[in-house]
Amino acid sequence: PWEYAPAPESRDIANLKPSYRMFVGGEFTDGGGEPLKSIDPATGEVLAEVASADESDVDTAVRAARSAFDSTWSTMPGTERAKYLFRIARLIQERGRELAVLETLDNGKPIRESRDADIPTAAAHFFHHAGWADKLGHAGYGPDPRPLGVAGQVIPWNFPLLMLAWKIAPALACGNTVVLKPAETTPLSALVFAEICQQAGLPPGVVNILPGAGDIGAALVAHPGVDKVAFTGSTEVGKQIQRTVAGTGKKLTLELGGKAANIVFDDAPLDQAVEGIVNGIFFNQGHVCCAGSRLLVQESVAEELLERLRARIRTLRVGDPLDKNTDVGAINSAEQLARITELADSGDAEGAQRWTSPCPLPDRGFFFAPTVFSGVQQSMRIAREEIFGPVLSVLTFRTPAEAIAKANNTPYGLSAGIWSEKGSRILWAAQQLRAGVVWANTFNRFDPTAPFGGYQESGFGREGGRAGLEAYLDV
Ligand code: NAD
Repeated sequence: PWEYAPAPESRDIANLKPSYRMFVGGEFTDGGGEPLKSIDPATGEVLAEVASADESDVDTAVRAARSAFDSTWSTMPGTERAKYLFRIARLIQERGRELAVLETLDNGKPIRESRDADIPTAAAHFFHHAGWADKLGHAGYGPDPRPLGVAGQVIPWNFPLLMLAWKIAPALACGNTVVLKPAETTPLSALVFAEICQQAGLPPGVVNILPGAGDIGAALVAHPGVDKVAFTGSTEVGKQIQRTVAGTGKKLTLELGGKAANIVFDDAPLDQAVEGIVNGIFFNQGHVCCAGSRLLVQESVAEELLERLRARIRTLRVGDPLDKNTDVGAINSAEQLARITELADSGDAEGAQRWTSPCPLPDRGFFFAPTVFSGVQQSMRIAREEIFGPVLSVLTFRTPAEAIAKANNTPYGLSAGIWSEKGSRILWAAQQLRAGVVWANTFNRFDPTAPFGGYQESGFGREGGRAGLEAYLDV
């Protein structure tokens, strides 16, 4: 199945520049930090050099955001703020192809996904929140909900533009201003977004983008001029941020890791479930906080399901992310590839059975073949730890109660999936599962109208929907 005519999208569409600058107070400027190098994970080659912030840039950006908050943005009528958000949404659409190719080059995800999921969903978040900007007084919060002030926002590398949209769109709709730090391996689409803010005529200082490593994220979170902190990333860093913010009075939302159970009951439509399992764990190479990384399957259908699943995985194409036929792209960095490899090796050492997709991998860049571990026990690391890669751990259960007990046996609680033809079973299981999002007979569906967020060590606060606005308002 891998002998096919390649259909690569042209990388010229990304309008790559040799160097990118940071965006502070409405201007593109050089940072005081050592420039970053953005790498194409499909080749290992440098894509561009990117200015990096130092601590004094954090201070300058927070001051610019404060000044914009006080002088224009927080007092502007919601109808006016909405116009800017609608303009930004349309510009993301107009530059959608450019952004999709750039995202694929910088992140390694298949072009089909950046084109059909990341970029349109990012635009949808701006459209959705543009609609809220002048209706906050009617949202049930009382007549006069207030913005919080300057939001310090830190995002990961797995959905660079989409995570930016989840953070910036609600903040701006509610009248806050923003300093955002993109992840060090994927800063490029955030800097094109800064160009879009200029194109939209957004007042200077309303959005500031500071590329940099974790120390700049830490400085931003700790800055006394920041009123609200929003973080998406690992549970480990989320806990550090919680400690930094403790006692300061800053508002905090955390979107952290996950280890979702995807539960297949014996009455499930198996072919449909196979599609959902493949999507759940191999979408974006499994670099997804809500990935369905633990497959829980009822014993009586386990053998049949696994056979169909392997047959389906055999047809997946792993390779050039710019190729429109590619299903699974590159792992974002050498460091992440090493993490995935180490955790998968622990599965072998602890006695699980590894099965790997036979699709040949490219001979350069960072790639990991789609992998399924069966015979997994709950005590194994591959059943407990977030792998954040294309590795599925399969466990079995006999009764629905056992399925729920195993699914909830995790310190996380971001998402879960249920596959069953029985509506009553779906409603019962959704009630029992301790997860912020439960999908039934589908997986990885995102919509700006639905709140997204976790229980337990997956964090707190919601993004999207009316609940997502609460994180950016004093009501
Ligand atoms: P990470 O926590 O290492 O980094 C995330 C961001 O935090 C980066 O921008 C990084 O530079 C910054 N950072 C690092 N140290 C910091 C510090 N001490 N203070 C402030 N900022 C700091 O996570 P990652 O490896 O980039 O991303 C993967 C993780 O993100 C996974 O655990 C995944 O589950 C999680 N994630 C969660 C969601 C969600 O919505 N819950 C969405 C996407 C990713």
